[in-house]
Amino acid sequence: MPPPIEIKKDFCLFHKGQIKGDVYECKKCGQPYCLECAKKASLEGKPCIKCKLAFFL
Ligand SMILES: [Zn+2]
Ligand SMILES: [Zn+2]
Repeated sequence: MPPPIEIKKDFCLFHKGQIKGDVYECKKCGQPYCLECAKKASLEGKPCIKCKLAFFL
């Protein structure tokens, strides 16, 4: 059996927790966020934390 590796690919940088429900992936860097967090960030004019590209929803 391979050793357990913790991959935090479903980690949302906005609420700093595991992504729940629908996932939004940044169009540029592919960073995943909760769809709800991405919507909220878009309304507040906040870009992707990683690459600073605006959210397109
Ligand atoms: Zn989130
Ligand atoms: Zn990005």
